[in-house]
Amino acid sequence: MLAKTHIAVGVAAAYSIVRPETAAEALPVIVGGALGSLICDFEFKGFGHRGFSHSLLALVLETAILQLLVPSAALPFAAAFASHVLLDITNKKSVRLFYPAKWGICLGWFYADRLANKAFATIGIIWLLLTFIMIRT
Ligand SMILES: [Zn+2]
Repeated sequence: MLAKTHIAVGVAAAYSIVRPETAAEALPVIVGGALGSLICDFEFKGFGHRGFSHSLLALVLETAILQLLVPSAALPFAAAFASHVLLDITNKKSVRLFYPAKWGICLGWFYADRLANKAFATIGIIWLLLTFIMIRT
């Protein structure tokens, strides 16, 4: 999926799990969620596309680092990271979830940049709006 889709679904997932009640609580959820939803696609040469950056090992290490630096953003980060990996697993290219294992997982249901991307982006935006409304009431 594309970046805006990952952000919409990732922030919605983070917001749904943490359920902040004030603007001060919402800020680290939104920033942590946005970071977690995008960081997977910042890949380093030598690790391969959807390699380490999309793995459970990266999820644990990066969440632990964030827990030390900005604890209030760690859980939203982890939720958004997980949503990114789950969305990518539905694609036709595999995700090396258990890196350094050489094999990857993919359901092969969708292309990352076609109709499913738009559908998931729409679902993410609606989910996020509903989450905002439900938390405010
Ligand atoms: Zn990805």
